[in-house]
Amino acid sequence: MSDTEITTPSVPEQAAEAPVQVRFADFGLSPDILRALNDQGYEHPTPIQAQAIPVLLQGRDVMGAAQTGTGKTASFSLPIIQMLLAHASASTSPARHPVRALILTPTRELAVQVADNVKAYAKHTPLRSTVVFGGMDMKPQTVILKGGVEIVIATPGRLLDHVEQKNIALNQVQMLVMDEADRMLDMGFLPDLQRIINLLPKKRQNLMFSATFSPEIKKLANTFLTDPITIEVARANKTADKVTQVVYKIAENQKHALTAHLLRQRELKQVIIFSNTKLGASRLARELEREGMKASAIHGDKTQQERMAALEAFKKGEIDILVATDVAARGLDISDLPCVINYDLPYNAEDYVHRIGRTGRAGASGDAISIYSDKDERLLADIEKLIKQTIKRAEPQGFDPAPSFADERGERRPRRSEDAARAPRSAERPPRSLGGGGPPRREKVDPWFLKPYEPAKAAPAPAAAAVGGAAITKAKPKLAFLLGGAPKQ
Ligand code: AMP
Repeated sequence: MSDTEITTPSVPEQAAEAPVQVRFADFGLSPDILRALNDQGYEHPTPIQAQAIPVLLQGRDVMGAAQTGTGKTASFSLPIIQMLLAHASASTSPARHPVRALILTPTRELAVQVADNVKAYAKHTPLRSTVVFGGMDMKPQTVILKGGVEIVIATPGRLLDHVEQKNIALNQVQMLVMDEADRMLDMGFLPDLQRIINLLPKKRQNLMFSATFSPEIKKLANTFLTDPITIEVARANKTADKVTQVVYKIAENQKHALTAHLLRQRELKQVIIFSNTKLGASRLARELEREGMKASAIHGDKTQQERMAALEAFKKGEIDILVATDVAARGLDISDLPCVINYDLPYNAEDYVHRIGRTGRAGASGDAISIYSDKDERLLADIEKLIKQTIKRAEPQGFDPAPSFADERGERRPRRSEDAARAPRSAERPPRSLGGGGPPRREKVDPWFLKPYEPAKAAPAPAAAAVGGAAITKAKPKLAFLLGGAPKQ
């Protein structure tokens, strides 16, 4: 984050990456909070928690640069609960439970996850918390808000709906959190955020978390944080060290077959597959299901109930594969995810960092597999430039791409599994000579498959073993993309 314009004391990166030996008990947190942490099985804070908790307990504003999966939610939830305990009341009167902490998130899923965390950490205290988000009936939310609640986790639009209907007063908010602020800006929430900030008391503690630091984020931070401490646990755009990254190059029309092959071969369970489009996500989930896998899609066109149901089923292990678009997957709190697959490389290189942040979470190791085709060379180059790393090229073991690839051209018969999933009937079987007379008919095979494998000359790493051995084109970085200017879906 060396290019940040925010001139604040910054916790050295060295400290951020040093092994953390402190325990939650060292922070002077209430025994009720420690008990809740113990219930979760957490004894040692993650690096962001180790740095943010003491600073927040001092009442300072914080600008946190932390990826999802670093434990950032507890880093702000625990101090909020601790600070609000002074006001905790067992009274049933709503007036004794004004909103004192407001946590804003870009998506409903993230709001629910943060709310679940807050509930778990506050469960032995009299503090009340709730979550409000759009796409649901306002009435049940209204009843809870009117009953009095100290900690509200909300998406900006629905919060403003409640404000307009006078279901919630924000004039006693003393702590404000903007979680995933970069994504809130991406999603166009800036005017809503400004309206909300105007409703809050001037004197309050502010926390802002963002995985990236665009100029817009710095501007927002400069306008609403007061003398903040900047805490960074992993450099913006740096991918988690424990994630093993690999890319497979394949013909565009083989991506589905390769995805299915990798899932089967590695017996992958609890995998998120990213698709760039809603349609692509739906189609892939359907096709994987047809091949006997337990898959479901989540994207912006799904209703809130459908998304929550899919997420729940995934968390319970009832489905193994969640096919998601970037917007739908943002902030999903699914721990111990062993593998993430990029069915499409993201248009926006920063989304690659977000996506693979799903795996290798909170210290666990994970695999990030990406599949790309010729036309995506430039996207891959953008990603590698952003993460300052060359991703290992690999060849899929035991994958024979020829039949179904050829099938698309009506040249050869598809494999059984492909048959049901994708082969257009009309292109399924080429006219065959039934024997007898003339010479055996020579099948047309794409010469691409007859070439022996050659490592790409221009590939930077010796392990670079892209299928077909194509080189990475030296593309100019697309700055507009890096700054979030690319279409998401
Ligand atoms: P977050 O970055 O807040 O989404 O957290 C990522 C995951 O780490 C969540 O599943 C948390 O429950 C888990 N987690 C948070 N704090 C700790 C901790 N101190 N020790 C172990 N796991 C944690």
